[in-house]
Amino acid sequence: MTTSTPSAVRTRFAPSPTGYLHLGGARTALFSWAFARHHKGTFVLRIEDTDLERSTPEAVQAILDSMAWLDMQPDEGPFYQMQRMDRYREVVRKMLADGTAYHCYSSPEEVEAMREKARAAGLKPRYDGSWRPEPGKTLPPVPAGRKPVVRFKNPLEGATGWNDLIKGHISFDNSELDDLVIARPDGTPTYNFCVVVDDWDMKITHVLRGDDHVNNTPRQINILRALGAALPEYGHVPMILGPDGEKLSKRHGAVNVMEYDNEGYLPEAMVNYLARLGWSHGNDELFTREQLVEWFDTRNLSKSAAQWDPKKLNWVNAHYIKASGNADLAERVAPRILKRQGNPQAVDLPAVMGLLKDRAETLNQLADGAMLFCGPYTPASAELRAEHLDEQALALLSSFERQARALPAWTAEALDALIKSMLAEHGVKMPKLGLPLRLAVTGQKQTPAIGAVLAILGRDLVLERLAAV
Ligand code: GLU
Repeated sequence: MTTSTPSAVRTRFAPSPTGYLHLGGARTALFSWAFARHHKGTFVLRIEDTDLERSTPEAVQAILDSMAWLDMQPDEGPFYQMQRMDRYREVVRKMLADGTAYHCYSSPEEVEAMREKARAAGLKPRYDGSWRPEPGKTLPPVPAGRKPVVRFKNPLEGATGWNDLIKGHISFDNSELDDLVIARPDGTPTYNFCVVVDDWDMKITHVLRGDDHVNNTPRQINILRALGAALPEYGHVPMILGPDGEKLSKRHGAVNVMEYDNEGYLPEAMVNYLARLGWSHGNDELFTREQLVEWFDTRNLSKSAAQWDPKKLNWVNAHYIKASGNADLAERVAPRILKRQGNPQAVDLPAVMGLLKDRAETLNQLADGAMLFCGPYTPASAELRAEHLDEQALALLSSFERQARALPAWTAEALDALIKSMLAEHGVKMPKLGLPLRLAVTGQKQTPAIGAVLAILGRDLVLERLAAV
């Protein structure tokens, strides 16, 4: 296949909008996205919003926001299942007409009794097929005034299996699969049925989804077959476990993708980290989005569950922060400084980023660090001054002030050189001058490299604060 023409590969991400997008969902979306991109195919977004009680517009927006943040834009969609009801009804009618589905008038109580009976006989609870038409079989009389459900006529014999792209061959005995309800008494289609019609209509070739859907797959395959549809390939992604080996949940920290934006993680780092959770390319831990697309292959998706590792995420994030340009970081950190009531314009923010980025794990840490320059200046407390600004310190500071005033260039290098020469001249060690300088100029005992801090603060401010002590 040449690389410039789009291939027939079509994947989809099909979230149910019942809450924020969680990490597991984002990772599934990422795999589907990367697979489509790798094959120059099409990535479809489908919103499965038929659960009216649990679906909300806010949740739809949260999904769209999260996908935009991670830069996984769909090529097609979002399609909304609620807008496709006519189509599902049409397919139900077609199946009733061609005999692959049938009306079932058993009441919920009757179905429950059938299940109970099966259970009592030590069998899997199931619908007993009372209304399933078979050649030569007489169906019971239709109960007056009762609206039927529509059931799919599942094959009774044999097995339904597929070669899972991740888990290998999986097979279910058809005798284990009930005749699935595909439409309710009011005509609304059911979940598995909508998925089938959509995957068919949207010409999905590869379904990558969480392995909580493994049990749905044989049912969906049988309906697709009954419709004469081409079967997609399926890959079921194992879940993500928390550091304690339990299923990842809120107990382990944030599971909402956008919470990571709040906490100062870069989307590039998130994509890198999420991709590595359950997928690998040799021992590569750090890779670009382009490399992910180039390398992505379902063969390297892991069969076993992945484990969430916040330390590693921080390490990856620190890497991306370090690798970012100062101006870029400044732009991302500025709103976080504003949130902290600081003024990002008070200072050469890119320079501050350059000073801090080697030691920051998150953008929030950068913002916290930048508050030294962007936040209100609080002079050192009287206690601190009494403790550290003795006569010798004050003499050193005033000498420093005089010489600093005369510096031809106000740069970190020049200031460091001045500090060094003063230490030699006065025969003192760094803390003797460094600490008083920090206290006098920033009000704090600890700061990043003092020369750089002074350079960024600027000559006027530094001299003014020195004069004040
Ligand atoms: N809507 C389903 C979910 O959010 C996914 C369905 C699918 O991928 O087939 O779990």
